[in-house]
Amino acid sequence: MADRYLSFTGTAPGRFLTRRLGLPQPASLKRFSPERPALQGDRLLLTAGKSDLDLTATGLGLTASSEHPAAVLLDATGVRDVETLAEVHAALHPVVRSVASSGRIVVLGAPLDPADHHQAAAQQALEGFTRSLGKEIGRGRTVNLVRLTDAPAAASTLGFLLSPKSAYVSGQVVEVGPQDVTAPADPERPLTGRTALVTGAARGIGEAVAETLARDGARVVVLDVPQAEQDARRVADRLGGTALALDITADDAGARIAAALPDGLDVLVHNAGITRDRRLVNMPAERWSSVLDVNLASVLRTTDALLASGTLRQGGRIVATASIAGLAGNAGQTNYGASKAGVVGLVRSLAPRALTEHGVTVNAVAPGFIETKMTAAIPLFIREAGRRMNSLAQGGLPADVAETTAWLAHPASGAVNGQVVRVCGQSLLGA
Ligand code: NAD
Repeated sequence: MADRYLSFTGTAPGRFLTRRLGLPQPASLKRFSPERPALQGDRLLLTAGKSDLDLTATGLGLTASSEHPAAVLLDATGVRDVETLAEVHAALHPVVRSVASSGRIVVLGAPLDPADHHQAAAQQALEGFTRSLGKEIGRGRTVNLVRLTDAPAAASTLGFLLSPKSAYVSGQVVEVGPQDVTAPADPERPLTGRTALVTGAARGIGEAVAETLARDGARVVVLDVPQAEQDARRVADRLGGTALALDITADDAGARIAAALPDGLDVLVHNAGITRDRRLVNMPAERWSSVLDVNLASVLRTTDALLASGTLRQGGRIVATASIAGLAGNAGQTNYGASKAGVVGLVRSLAPRALTEHGVTVNAVAPGFIETKMTAAIPLFIREAGRRMNSLAQGGLPADVAETTAWLAHPASGAVNGQVVRVCGQSLLGA
């Protein structure tokens, strides 16, 4: 499972040899740890166009000048035409080289104005700019775009994107609505007093999600199939949570979760998923239906049941798991691709209604190549291609998906709704 190439390119001979051969140069990413919770260095604020945004209340600690910034926030919300786009170039061109390794560039944009096609063109241009810069910037640095209307609603999003927690999120466009949000009492443990249920949490990405939500203060319920009960208990015991042995495809899964949580639920993470790969010509109906059932039908059924029973409380969060295979398609995965694209459809349709009717947000994470048992089983050359075919030239870790989930589950992320956020190092697939 270890990425030996990444370790090799981290040595002096490895760097020399791979450079001479023109091979990918993955940087060792700076991820979150309790000892290093933030990137070391300044957060530089730049502006393009005339902005009305007041970023002072976000508590991001921005500075107006820096020789060697760890992060750059470019406020481009005031860019309304092609001429003003030149200010994006003027602002970033002189500083881009000096941004630290594993640094962050976050571009702030405005929603596209349907009544002004010049503004819409200029704002959409920021998307192509962001994605292109993400592909060329290198050294483990990421570039993302946030479309927003007011700064306080976006504080949790900007905090995430400017931190080491977003190490494997690049080339993304996130829209943040205008909803009022309240900051948690304890920023270190924002999920204190909240209950989170993670499906498929006995191992892999789900285990990392449960661990990260527990770190953030949540009481976690570790759900997995009865065959994995022992592992689920081990994870739950370690995190001070409880295990729930349940096949999520059972007809009464929603009712049994509701019965296990009489005091309600705040965060529901649909992580359980399976693959049963075959090309369509060779795929028996059973392989199709088992994947559709675990990855999509059970997500729909339990979501409906837990919203209808009121188990998911006001202020609740649903985070579903899609995949880049659902966005780009993948040979041998018509079943899996269909199921994961279905998750995206569910999120887009339900998000506005769930927020109005239940006060619950609905978002998805779409992982790319993540180092787990699932991807360790892929044949060597396909695995190597999967790892390198992204802007960061390496696979992600379960913790990267977990940190993204924790941001979406954050109490102050109530204005982030209906988003599908790829955790893929800006994979070339479906880009
Ligand atoms: P994994 O196989 O390591 O873990 C999945 C867990 O889900 C297992 O513990 C399994 O027992 C559980 N599960 C399966 N069917 C279940 C059911 N019917 N009821 C309850 N639990 C069930 O997988 P992973 O790599 O950790 O992936 C987690 C999620 O992320 C999946 O939805 C997967 O499709 C998605 N994903 C993974 C990758 C990757 O690179 N690993 C990429 C894209 C998307």
